[in-house]
Amino acid sequence: MSLIVNNITKSFSDFAALNQVSFETHSGEFLALLGPSGSGKTTLLRLLAGLDQPDSGTVTFEGEDYLALNARERRIGMVFQSYALFRHMTVEQNIAFGLNVRPAKERPSKAEIKAKVQSLLKLIQLEDLGKRFPSQLSGGQRQRVALARALAISPRILLLDEPFGALDALVRKDLRRWLRRIHDETGVTTIFVTHDQEEALDLADRVVVLKDGQIEQIGKPLELYRKPASSFVFDFLGTNNQVTATVSGAEAAFDGFTVPAIITGDLTGEQLVRFRPFDAHVSKDGPGFKGKVLSILPAGANLRLEVQAEDGTVFETQHAHDSDASDLALNDTVYVKPIKVYVFGT
Ligand code: ADP
Ligand code: MG
Repeated sequence: MSLIVNNITKSFSDFAALNQVSFETHSGEFLALLGPSGSGKTTLLRLLAGLDQPDSGTVTFEGEDYLALNARERRIGMVFQSYALFRHMTVEQNIAFGLNVRPAKERPSKAEIKAKVQSLLKLIQLEDLGKRFPSQLSGGQRQRVALARALAISPRILLLDEPFGALDALVRKDLRRWLRRIHDETGVTTIFVTHDQEEALDLADRVVVLKDGQIEQIGKPLELYRKPASSFVFDFLGTNNQVTATVSGAEAAFDGFTVPAIITGDLTGEQLVRFRPFDAHVSKDGPGFKGKVLSILPAGANLRLEVQAEDGTVFETQHAHDSDASDLALNDTVYVKPIKVYVFGT
């Protein structure tokens, strides 16, 4: 374990922004902190960085009491959503900043700083742009410089608060892969904050899901996907369909057919159940929920259908291009049958 966060609580007036938050990071891990806006992600990062103090709880890093250290002593690298580069400094000067402001006895020599800046420029693949000013860079390039600046001090932990939040979707995806590569090269323990579930699942070794200042679940991306701990986690990971069924044992019964049910909690009888677009068959024969094909849309390598059932419910389903679903046309009468459903007590 490198960072251990134990029972952290933080309130603003009466409002509990963080409530008994506990988690740990492994050394060198890439951890994502995922939650909707207002769930306490930034508050938590600020406490870890030493920009604010919790009301109660402890934070240790490799056995050392982090709350007793000031921000500089914690040696944390941070990158925020908004470009926090110094406008009047070149890229090289921005990257060197954290080293240049070190107390004289800790400061590397000029030559060492220069070499460090060059190696970081190489790492972020902006070797030729060291003399530029931030205004002469694209948004994505600026965030790469911000990351190099955070890495320059050889941080013990890297904290990234929605670093790609202000960039357009394509650049974001590019930077995502790039960031993961940089992480793997440097091996620095990283906590990456995002409200974008795809970003979190794509990037992280493990994901901490926050809701209203409390942890809903901690797990590897596949664990969250396969075994969501609550309806909140299930719903937050992507679009899904909801219907009522009669649940018993590990099955959900619908009118004329039953399907396997993954049940969290002690639930039987009539329940709201959920299924993902991918966990559904669509066919011209029953059984299933009878409906009409409302839309057919490409979704990357897949095909997304909307099927409107007779009671008005719209189901969203997703299929491989080479599946039977690719033969369907608009307004075809079809049957939607879940492959498996999830049921949650909370
Ligand atoms: P996130 O980063 O997940 O969007 P924040 O940590 O910024 O969430 O905020 C969590 C909650 O705490 C929000 O409801 C926010 O309004 C509140 N909050 C954050 N900082 C302060 C503050 N300095 N004073 C009062 N309320 C705050
Ligand atoms: Mg925030």
